[in-house]
Amino acid sequence: MSTNKKAPSSELPSDSLEPKSVAPKPETASKKPSPSSRIQKAVALAKTAHSGQFRRTGEPYIIHPLAVKKILEEWEMDEDTIIAGILHDVVEDTSVTLEEIKTEFGESVAFLVDGVTKLSEVRKNMHDIDTYLPETKDNFLRLMIALGSDIRVLIIKLADRLHNARTLSALPPAKQKKIALETLEIFAPLADRLNMGLLRVELADLAFSYVNPRRYEYLKNLIESTNKQASKALKEIKSEVSALLKKEKIDFEISGRIKSVYSLHKKLAKHNQNMGEIYDLTALRIIVPDIVSCYLTLGLLHSLYTPMNERIKDYIAVPKQNGYQSLHTTVITKNKKIVEFQIRTREMHEYAERGLAASFYYNEQKLTENYKQGKIQHLPTNLLWITELQEAAAKLKEGKKVDLKKLRLNLFADKIFVYTPKGDIIDLPKGSLPLDFAFRLHSEIGGHVVGVKINGKMSNLNHHLEQGDVVEILTSKNQKPRASWLDKIITPHARQKLRQMLPKD
Ligand code: MN
Repeated sequence: MSTNKKAPSSELPSDSLEPKSVAPKPETASKKPSPSSRIQKAVALAKTAHSGQFRRTGEPYIIHPLAVKKILEEWEMDEDTIIAGILHDVVEDTSVTLEEIKTEFGESVAFLVDGVTKLSEVRKNMHDIDTYLPETKDNFLRLMIALGSDIRVLIIKLADRLHNARTLSALPPAKQKKIALETLEIFAPLADRLNMGLLRVELADLAFSYVNPRRYEYLKNLIESTNKQASKALKEIKSEVSALLKKEKIDFEISGRIKSVYSLHKKLAKHNQNMGEIYDLTALRIIVPDIVSCYLTLGLLHSLYTPMNERIKDYIAVPKQNGYQSLHTTVITKNKKIVEFQIRTREMHEYAERGLAASFYYNEQKLTENYKQGKIQHLPTNLLWITELQEAAAKLKEGKKVDLKKLRLNLFADKIFVYTPKGDIIDLPKGSLPLDFAFRLHSEIGGHVVGVKINGKMSNLNHHLEQGDVVEILTSKNQKPRASWLDKIITPHARQKLRQMLPKD
């Protein structure tokens, strides 16, 4: 990475202000896996196979698979996954065959390598990101189902993408942007769906620094200066809170956490760029031993400061879709400072940062097996889509048809996938209405809507579309666009198209 291009440090764990004081890993985490002869054998094979190949940076190609190995080791993945990570590019780029891998390393490793290879083959056929994005998601979904029987394929792919994103500076600008955009659109949301918070933040911020460098710099500086200004006040609040928790004999760790650049960017977009509405630019994170202490701590905070009631969020009782758990509250201190607190147990913290990888770490075995046998305690119960993928994959293996329309795949947060009667997939924001869909197809369609059929039944323009709906727009040449339709639209695109069609007064 060149030095003038300030990409986010790969060492910054999530949005942590003081990474060292947060999250010392449980003791077993420092236990290094014993050097395995299988891993050594895989490294030797990859070195031979890739010899004479180079990366854009001019370095020998082997740098890349070794970096992927290191990432997977940091995520504490199982040995087969690490081996597949080392070998993930050999079938595609060298003369080593899948059969050889199977003979040398077994079926499981071969399956994983094959999965990753197929994943990149599909990508190769998609050239121009601007035209293929909606299509990608379709192919991607289909592929994910095909690969769904082993989620580790995805984890290797994410490790691969992380290293490629970290080394983006070596690529020509057009390619940088393309990969960065894809990282932002597909891989960072995927990391989010797996609740791999550290990875999501690193991928999103790296990619965003290429997609929109000026905005990235601006927001990064904004976050830094705001935190600098707030640091003295935060320190006081921290010691006030610490004193109270100590008095109440609650075991705790408290630390600052900084918002990531990309999440600030997204939040500002949601709030019309109004910084006054961003309350969690700086937040304090409190880690306590158990759930009861979480609620106790919340109560104590509220006895000390005035809570902004509408901003209390109980993600312990109701976890986020990806399994994230924490209590969030925003309070006003005696000095009229607004501060957000996040309260969670150590286990919740581990899971928030490492997500699915944390499950592997605790179990050292395949998630699927443990999941089915009910062995995983802090089970990502809300990772329903993985189960769905697995069920669909099992069906495919048996030669049965998988009905994509029925499969409630919600891989991309806040998005739904609906279908045209022909089966084309259209992705829309959650809460979209039939007119959003119609204008997305074409403004000529949007402008002449007389009705809508949803899943074959007549419906109305106020009906919120749901994941998997088949939407048929009925049009008439005689219909004219109406101003009242503006109330039946939620997407900016459709709104803009409709406005252009309305008669000017
Ligand atoms: Mn690779």
